[in-house]
Parts: sequence; structure tokens; C-alpha cells
Amino acid sequence: MGGFFGVISRKNCIYDVFFGTDYHSHLGTRRAGMAFYDHDTGFQRQIHSIENTPFRTKFDADMSKFTGHSGIGCISDTDPQPLLFRSHLGTFAISTVGIINNAEELVRSFSGPGKQFMAMSSGSVNATELTAALINQKENLVEGIRYAQQTIDGSCTILLLMKDCIIAARDMLGRLPVLVGKSENGCCVSFESFAYHKLGYEDHYELGPGEIVKITESGVERLQAPGDKMRICAFLWTYYGYPNSNYEGKNVEVMRYHNGEIMARDEEKNGTMPDVDYVAGVPDSGLPHAIGYANQSHKPFARPFVKYTPTWPRSFTPANQEMRNLVAKMKQIPVPELIKDKKLLFVDDSIVRGTQLRETVEFLYSNGAKEVHMRSACPPIMYGCKYLNFSRSNSEMELLARRIIQNLEGREGQKHVDEYADSTTERGQCMLKAICEEMGFDSLGYQSLDGLLEAIGLDRDKVCTYCWTGRE
Ligand code: SF4
Repeated sequence: MGGFFGVISRKNCIYDVFFGTDYHSHLGTRRAGMAFYDHDTGFQRQIHSIENTPFRTKFDADMSKFTGHSGIGCISDTDPQPLLFRSHLGTFAISTVGIINNAEELVRSFSGPGKQFMAMSSGSVNATELTAALINQKENLVEGIRYAQQTIDGSCTILLLMKDCIIAARDMLGRLPVLVGKSENGCCVSFESFAYHKLGYEDHYELGPGEIVKITESGVERLQAPGDKMRICAFLWTYYGYPNSNYEGKNVEVMRYHNGEIMARDEEKNGTMPDVDYVAGVPDSGLPHAIGYANQSHKPFARPFVKYTPTWPRSFTPANQEMRNLVAKMKQIPVPELIKDKKLLFVDDSIVRGTQLRETVEFLYSNGAKEVHMRSACPPIMYGCKYLNFSRSNSEMELLARRIIQNLEGREGQKHVDEYADSTTERGQCMLKAICEEMGFDSLGYQSLDGLLEAIGLDRDKVCTYCWTGRE
């Protein structure tokens, strides 16, 4: 994924950019960077790996070296950025979030004498450098950004730090949010709204899909009007958005409670709610959905196991899979009094490959649980994301639901994915039963697509649900 934060102010903005960017640390674990502009010293930039050390620790020593009234910062799950460019469009720092599926084809279109890419990372051309190269193809910035966004297959949200302004461009279908905050000293631009609220900025403007704006100390000037088609990512609410944030006016934490309530309401209605001692969430992202489920079902909420996080920051991601599994296990600490002889219902934000969930269930049984019922706060994931850098599996056949369908019916089953995704059908029921058998659940339930959209509260055609439906 990735996130960003930028400020243009009448006063020094170094610490606003530092903390604002840090508040996006949940969105990426690979690289982070900041760039500032100062009238006397010009552009300054620093990038660090945040794979094993959090953003704040990595950039702490740089802070005394930066100066400026404007700056941008990013957390990146892919390439190092922001990058600095000088072209016929001026000198600028650029940061991007998204995915370029046709990167190879675009890179090839630049081959020829005198054309080159310099910021290679992990054997590929840096996606932000490629985006800048596309922007530089045109006579002005707005045309260049439009050209880049229309040429890229995937999505691309862009922040540009110029000498006198910040240019922000939301991706064409608004898969990710871009919000502008304002204070008495200037403006900021952010992925997460809570990041600027905490720094004393108030909500000022939310960009529409494909919209491009120029941000100065005084406010926002529209350079390109938004398009009328939007497909904002539903996973912002169910999983990776921060609880305190609002996107399109809908708060993340409130959505999650409501989502859990809807699941419980629907299970009460159709008689599938089991009799349990506690409702619990798989930490951390399942917790708010579980709170909603518990509130609606009037069954006590509990935390039968808690993650030990003080010495295991999320950014600690050992390269070796065996070590990653061991770390996951070490973090999981049981509360035996809440597990032994208890009937438990766990809610997770989603079920992707199911590997970790299987271990969690084994862990609960080995600690004496009597029954373990599982609920997923979103429908069965049937397709990998092709719009954002948000892949939690390498191929569709790694997705638990698709693998189970393959086991049940082979290739024929893959033609009936819609039916399998619907638990009211015979195939849907078969899939639930097969997953319960494989994973050791006493029962399994998925939130319905209608329930999920009801919880978000936006028009259905404004939300991307491709992961579940395969429809664009
Ligand atoms: S495909 Fe899934 S993860 Fe990707 S934008 Fe759509 S809802 Fe979000």
C-alpha cells in the first residue's frame, strides 16, 4: 500500500511533515522518505529503509538538518521515494501511491538513445521515476499528470512538491483518499484525516476521483475537475484504514462496529448465531468488528488472547518465512481463564489464505477451548487486487476460498465462484462446511456483500468490491 503527507505553511513545517508522515506508518513497511523546500537551501531529501526500524527512529537524526516551509513525506511498501527531478516542468520532488501493472510496456516505450531510468529498485524501474517520466512527456504539469494517470494500468495517486506549492492528484477512480487540511498557518495534504487533525489542521477539502489541485499556504486551487465515476477501496474501512480516519465522510471505526452489528443482526434473523461464552476479535484488525457483533448479540466481548507488541513493531518483518511464523507465534499470548472450557466466537477482518487463522484455532484448542466459531467481517475473497499494491497472496489459487472450490469441484467449480460466495446457495454452504473441516472451526460465517456495503454507507457503485465479485 503506502501513504503520504505534505505541508505548505507560513512557518517552518519540518515537524508537521515528520509526525504527519509517521501517522501513516501502518500503511507500509519497506521505505520512507521526506523532501523539503527552503528558499535559501533549495530542495533537501532523505530516504531510509523502515524494514526493521520504525519511521520515527530512522528519521530522528535527520530532523535537525532539514529546513523549509513546505515538504512532503511518504511511507512506501514498494520503491524508495520521494524522488527529485529537474525537467522542462521545473524542479520538483515526487511521491506516488498505487500500482503500475503495465510498467514493463511503459518502460519499453522509453527505450532509445538518451533515454534512461536511474532509480532501479529490486531489479525493476522505480514506479515513481516511471510516473515522473510520463508526466515529463507533456507541455505542462496538469497535462502530464493526466497523461500518466490515463496511461497507467492500475492506479496512481501523486504528490508533487514544487518551489511554491504542492500539487496533489487523486487516482482516476479514487481508489484511495486524498484530503486537505487547513490551519491558520497553512495547508496540509494527507491520506489519513486523523494525521492532520492531531496536528491542529481542520478538514478543508477532499479531492474527487482524478481531481488535481494546487495547494498553497492560503488554500486549494482546482487544476482539473474530478471525474464522475468513483471506486473507492472497501478495504480502507474493513482493514487497512486507521480507525480515527474518515473517507468520503465515513468514519472507519464506526463502520467497523456497524459492520459487526449487521453480521450479528443477520445471523439472529436467519438462526445461524451460535450459543457462545465470548465474542472476540482476532487482534488487532478484527477487534472493532467483534465489538459490533458483541454489542448487537448481547454476548460478552473478551480478549482470550492478546498480542505482545512493545518489542515487536509491525515493521519488524524478517525475510525468512519460518522466522515470520515464529514471530507471529511469539506475539500471541493467551489468557487461559478466558479460553479453557469456553465456547468462543472470533471475528477477523477477512480470511485471505487462512494459514495464520488455522494456527490461531490450533492455539485456542491447545489452550483448552471447547468450541471455536469463526466469522469474517467481509465476504469470501475470490480475486487478487489489481488496482493497488495490496496483494496478500501471490495467486488466486492461494486464496482459501478459491483453493477450497478447486478441491471440491476442480476447474468446473471456478465457473461458479459467484454461487460459492453466496452462503444462501448449496455451493456456498458446501464451501463453508469444507473450510470448517479443514480449519477446525465449529462454524463459519462471512459478512454478505450487501451487509458490507450497508456498513460503509456509500452508494454501491462508488465502492470497489472487485476482491469479492471480480467485477470492475
Ligand atoms: S480490488 Fe479489493 S483491495 Fe483492490 S481496490 Fe478493489 S476492494 Fe480494494
